Order: sequence, then C-alpha cells, then structure tokens
Amino acid sequence: MNPITYLEAGDVTGALYHSEQPGRAFIAGGTNLIDLMKEQVMRPHALVDINSLALAEITPSASGGLLLGATARNADTAYHPLVRDGYPLLRAAILAGASPQIRNMASNGGNLLQRTRCHYFYDIGTACNKRDPGSGCAAIGGLTRQHAILGASAHCIATHPSDMCVALAALEAVVHVESAAGARQIAFADFHRLPGEHPEQDTTLAPGELITQIELPPAERFAAHSAYLKFRDRASYAFALVSVAAMLDVGDDGVVRDARLALGSVAHKPWRVPLAEAALVGRPAGAETFAHAAELLLSGAQGQGENDFKITMARRAVIRALEQALEGTHDNSHEYAGKEPL
Ligand code: SF4
Repeated sequence: MNPITYLEAGDVTGALYHSEQPGRAFIAGGTNLIDLMKEQVMRPHALVDINSLALAEITPSASGGLLLGATARNADTAYHPLVRDGYPLLRAAILAGASPQIRNMASNGGNLLQRTRCHYFYDIGTACNKRDPGSGCAAIGGLTRQHAILGASAHCIATHPSDMCVALAALEAVVHVESAAGARQIAFADFHRLPGEHPEQDTTLAPGELITQIELPPAERFAAHSAYLKFRDRASYAFALVSVAAMLDVGDDGVVRDARLALGSVAHKPWRVPLAEAALVGRPAGAETFAHAAELLLSGAQGQGENDFKITMARRAVIRALEQALEGTHDNSHEYAGKEPL
C-alpha cells in the first residue's frame, strides 16, 4: 500500500501553495486519477482536493462567449441552459462520452487531463514510454485497435480518449491556467501535445499549473449546423474508435462561409487540419466538397495493421458528420434535475 496525504484547498492560492512540491496531484472528480492510482500507473504522495474552489460556475464571458469552470461537472455543463442553447456541439460531445455516473462526477478540467486508454499504459508489467520514459512501447506490434493513425511517433502511438475535447478543439476554446508565477491562457490547439520523443508529456501545462476555466468563443454562426458523430465498439459505454466534430456556417445560397472539423481518437490530441477546413469555405455544401475535405483531413494517415480500418472509417465519418451538420443541429435536450438520470 502507498501512503497518501490528503490536502483540501480552500481557494486557488491555497491550491497553488499545496501543489508547489513535486509528487502532488490535484483531484476534482477523480474518475481517471483514482483508476490510475489503483493500477499504480500514477503514484502521487499527496492529493490536493480542489472541489471547494470557486471554479464550478458556468457564466457568460465578456466577449459574448462562455466561461466553463474547471470543477463544474461534465453533466452540469452539458445540461446548462447556456450550453444547451449556444453550444449544442459541446453538449452532444459530452453526452456521447462515458456513462451518466461518470459524467455526474467528472470535472471539465479533469476531462482535458485524462490519460490515454492504451491497454499497455495501464499494465505496469509492459513497456510504455508514456508511463516509464525510455522503456519502449509495447503497443507497437501489439494490440492497436484503439491506436493512432495520425501524428504518432516511434515512441508512442496512443490516442487521446476525450469526446469533450474534440468539440472544444472545433470551437477553438481557450484554457485559462494559474500558477505561482501568474495566470496565462493557452489556445486549445496548443494545449495537448503530439507524442514526439516525449510521450510522457500529454499537455503543455507546466508543473504546478492549475486549470481554472475553459473559455468558449462566441459560436452563434455555427449553432444551426453542427454535429458530433462517434463510432465505438459498444453503444452503451465505450471510448471512440473515431469521432468527428463538424461545424458549418452556410449561406442562403448553399455555399459554406466558414467551417470547423476535428477528429477524435485518431491521434495523441484532437486532430485538425486548417487546409481541410479552408477547402470547405466558398464551396457548395455537398458530397463532393465534403469528400475533398475528408481526404485533406486524413492526409498522411497511417495504420498499425490492426487499426488500418480507422482510416476508411474516419474518412466516411467526416463526410457523414458534415452531412448531418448541413441537415441541421440535432437537439437532444431533455429534463435534468441536478443529477443526470442513471
Ligand atoms: Fe505507452 Fe504510448 Fe506505447 Fe501505449 S502507445 S504502450 S501509451 S508508449
């Protein structure tokens, strides 16, 4: 058994003070961290509980967007009226992830920081550069159904498992963080890393930095035409094989004025290609335009053998998500009374 010290922070200053020493981890919902601790993949010697911090609010931002508190629960976020009405893509992505029980518990900040679901990462008897830098990668040549087809390296072929983050990438969210050195903002595209030679680093957060809020820019022009599409092995509860966040701004003449596309579960981070989005703009919204964008988005994709099917699946998923977005944003709202129905 590993002894663990529990520390409760009353405010952000206190949380940052507690986090200054190495080997300490923030905990909010704990839905991934506790699993990792049970498997001995992560072994912090102290947990800093941040649930008492005033970071659970969801409020309008000064720029006309929305500020999501880092400790707000995923379910509370998905069912919040401002998210339901203004960001249906984000709502759909959150509700496509995990189970109601987990969404009731998991925090927004924690969703961004969840670790890969690579089987080998969780098995401390295998080589894994992400868990134990320099040890190798058991996934290469192993079981790769869930693994990357884009942006992988010779050191790691893991994928980022979040649904919420795929929508946040398409929405071009901004991550607000604080540390003893001050506050800063990180564009979502820069928040998660590709594995390169250092797959042990999932994000660009510096040690001791705390996510405080996630800012959503205004997105009214996309609200009528967005879709989140997720393909997985099991409908009830599974991580994606491939997911797509698609947003279109289409004029009355049927021509695309603006577009966003992000792929999930295909790379170490949500995958966007500016060229693919630019190829949609100024073109008639339709099959030919969508197929061309899908080709560009999947440019350079390479399977590991077992997961080669994901390349075709992703290409088709992009086209279908764009078709669904064009048809109109689906409203899957239903009553919510404080806890998501189980
Ligand atoms: Fe570890 Fe990455 Fe290889 Fe999985 S793919 S075993 S996480 S190094």
